[in-house]
Amino acid sequence: MTKEDGDWLDRAHLETQAIRAGIRRSSEGEHSEPIHTTSSFIFDSPEDAAARFSGDYVANVYSRYTNPTVRGFEQRLAAMEEGEAAVATASGMAAILATCMALLKSGDHVICSRDVFGSTVGLFEKYLGNFGVETSFVSLRDPSAWRAAARPSTRLLFCETPSNPLCEVADLAALAQIANDQGALLVVDNCFCTPALQRPLNLGADLVIHSATKYLDGQGRVLGGAVVGAESLMEELVGFLRTCGPAISPFNAWVCMKGLETLSLRMQAHCQRAQHLAEWLQTMAPVNRVNYAGLPDHPGYDLAVAQQEGFGGVLSFEVQGGQAAAWQFIRATELMSLTANLGDAKTTIVHPATTTHSRLTQQQRDEAGISDGLIRIAVGLEHIEDIKADCDRGFAALLR
Ligand SMILES: *Cc1c(COP(=O)(O)O)cnc(C)c1O
Repeated sequence: MTKEDGDWLDRAHLETQAIRAGIRRSSEGEHSEPIHTTSSFIFDSPEDAAARFSGDYVANVYSRYTNPTVRGFEQRLAAMEEGEAAVATASGMAAILATCMALLKSGDHVICSRDVFGSTVGLFEKYLGNFGVETSFVSLRDPSAWRAAARPSTRLLFCETPSNPLCEVADLAALAQIANDQGALLVVDNCFCTPALQRPLNLGADLVIHSATKYLDGQGRVLGGAVVGAESLMEELVGFLRTCGPAISPFNAWVCMKGLETLSLRMQAHCQRAQHLAEWLQTMAPVNRVNYAGLPDHPGYDLAVAQQEGFGGVLSFEVQGGQAAAWQFIRATELMSLTANLGDAKTTIVHPATTTHSRLTQQQRDEAGISDGLIRIAVGLEHIEDIKADCDRGFAALLR
């Protein structure tokens, strides 16, 4: 028990919970959160060991089951998402895998938005398909398509909003209603917004997924993941994780937990820079179109205003001249990192058609609106004028 465990914390604001929730001090009385790097825990006596194994009381046994540092990260994130409980995993994909393995069985049906993370598509299509779970992919923006795809065996609705790289926005309350009518669960990958900008559980989602690798860490240091939701659902997930083992390391959990302390401030700064950059890119002649939900002419603008507290740090734009022009632009940049990652203090740039979305056919990309001239930028925390100057190097290359 620490001072931080008081009732006041449950009623505190997200920024406060991000700094004060989930603290478990050791007997040394350290101020900052300790890292418990141990695989196992010792028992006080044979009786104590037997009691811990029988499940009579909850105590540490083995770090695949529980670890105090991991618990701290889980409790802090659960508080911020306004969920009853959270479980941390080795990566974002491990969080999605655990959710599916714990909650689905052969014969179940899943509805998933088309523009989800590439490995998520692979998991649903290939690996779950091998075990008799069928997935229908539908448009994120069209709730009626979700309703039309529903079957009696539909168990899970899965979406990622805003989407990558076009920043399309799902109506989470509408999807929650469909899930509810269907007796299915709505699972939302909240990686792009984080709880600082969007809390899907409050809009009716049953589970929130995180790739903590992205904004929760925020500095590109570690892999991590988490699932947040009701205690009863978390128990199912914990069962899978303890048995099958995709646990997060205490060190990675600690990095993510400390990352949460600055999440809100960082997200505000990412949003400000992305908004500025999106508006500026719109004025540039070689740009056909800018995709950012903070632009009033973006199809997701109204929904984003209603359900998000900011528009996020990721945007994309299409340059004239297709792939050759996009590559020329990217080659000329010097500050931005050419990497597929996002959610980092470092601004990153990537050409979706030949990297993150290269598994799609040309026709699928055309239908989705991921053209050959499209460039995605995940705006970091450098000074906005330096980011713009880097884009100017790209635009200058197009004129040569
Ligand atoms: C990166 C990412 C994932 C996967 O997370 P990992 O930590 O890389 O396993 C899942 N969803 C989204 C939206 C992502 O960006």
